[in-house]
Amino acid sequence: MFSSIKFKLVAWFLGITSVVFVGLGVGLYHELKKIAFDAIDSHLHSEVQLIASLVKVDDGELEVSLDEVAVGDYALPLSGHYYQVLVDGEVVMRSPSLSSVGASLPVSGPSFEPVYRTITGPDRRPLRLNEHSFNLAGSVVTVQAAESLKDTYELLDSFRNIVMVLLPSVFVLSAVGGLLITRFSLRGLDVFARRVERVTERSLGERVDVEGVALELKPLAASFNTMLCRLEEFFERQRRFMSDASHQLRTPTAVIRGYCDVTLSRERSPEEYRKALESISDAAARMAFIIERILEVARLEDRIYNIESTDVDLMDVMKNVVKLFEGPAAQRSVRISLAGEHIKVRGDRDRLTEVFTNIVDNAIKYNRPGGSVDIEVRGVEGQACVTVADTGCGIAPNEREMIFDRFYRSEQTRTKVAGSGLGLSIVKGIVEAHGGRVEVESIIGKGSRFKVYLPMKREE
Ligand code: ADP
Repeated sequence: MFSSIKFKLVAWFLGITSVVFVGLGVGLYHELKKIAFDAIDSHLHSEVQLIASLVKVDDGELEVSLDEVAVGDYALPLSGHYYQVLVDGEVVMRSPSLSSVGASLPVSGPSFEPVYRTITGPDRRPLRLNEHSFNLAGSVVTVQAAESLKDTYELLDSFRNIVMVLLPSVFVLSAVGGLLITRFSLRGLDVFARRVERVTERSLGERVDVEGVALELKPLAASFNTMLCRLEEFFERQRRFMSDASHQLRTPTAVIRGYCDVTLSRERSPEEYRKALESISDAAARMAFIIERILEVARLEDRIYNIESTDVDLMDVMKNVVKLFEGPAAQRSVRISLAGEHIKVRGDRDRLTEVFTNIVDNAIKYNRPGGSVDIEVRGVEGQACVTVADTGCGIAPNEREMIFDRFYRSEQTRTKVAGSGLGLSIVKGIVEAHGGRVEVESIIGKGSRFKVYLPMKREE
């Protein structure tokens, strides 16, 4: 469940909505508190100013006459509205709301700037207090006015309660909304999945309609189509391989059956039996050879071809290959030469030996008597390059690509020289598995030049 996109989206959506809502609630609470306190402070400031204006000097004596403010809430005992006047630290006047119950406001040192404090009032409830001191007739007069915060705290409490009640509702609404939105948004994925489901091994030619899917899924649909192309190509290659392979095996099988049928049709002399068995053995050997190559190609195709990665000196490989072919070359009066430098690549020594064995074998096989095979190992533009040039029959321009296809054998050599047509397809597979490439240049009647490029081993 935790790996589901839907779950993750809803969880993120819920988390973000909750954080935003709680943040908004806390922010608004503080803003509301500030506004309420500012309003009270402003009111208390006016009260202090009013009371201060009623403190007068008469004949050098201070006179405090607050009868006109000792009315309304100030007159009711513990009403939550209080004032108090001090001269030189001594309380000289209190609002009836205080004096009637014998209470007073707490006194701190004189302050010539207006000071606002939250204190505990005589009825143990919070009070907002404003006090301001000034000099008058040589005395320090301090005026204090206070107002209960009961209503303000009630307002803030109800705001907090509303937020607390709304929070679960917002949570539930966000969860439901998030679920609906994700379900709606991911519907495209279901449509895409249904289209993909329709593709089977029989309908690999079908493609997912990129136009019809959601914008975000277009790259996925395009990659899926590319994968289908590759699969189709792979299946097609496999199919062609099967049909080519069966075709190749049909001839020796027919030969064997033919010899068996003809030989068994009547009584034969031991000499005739021996000849028939020899022919059958040749055909069986050819079948075994073809089957061996087919298996090799199949292994390469399936990538079971374990390409080991070791340091391989191409000059050493070529020396071994040349040694291997000295006998067959001499038999055909073909001269082999090897030149160049020691160049290292990373790769599989046996597989690379197989590559050059195939190329040099062909260079000798398709050569003319008295011809030559010149091999060179060089570094070319940061790559290792092995060139095998022969003086053979050459390859027609239209066949230069096809000789790397499985079972392809050129028109002019097919009837004259024995072979399977698989060697160069194996060469190409191994070289490409090493990250390299094979090129061929050729002039009909003059010779061919095979070039194998491989990535050079990087010096650490
Ligand atoms: P095989 O040699 O068993 O037929 P390959 O895959 O090695 O199979 O070669 C495919 C074909 O390419 C050969 O049948 C031949 O016609 C052509 N070919 C390969 N190498 C040469 C060469 N050096 N000179 C001329 N033709 C060549």
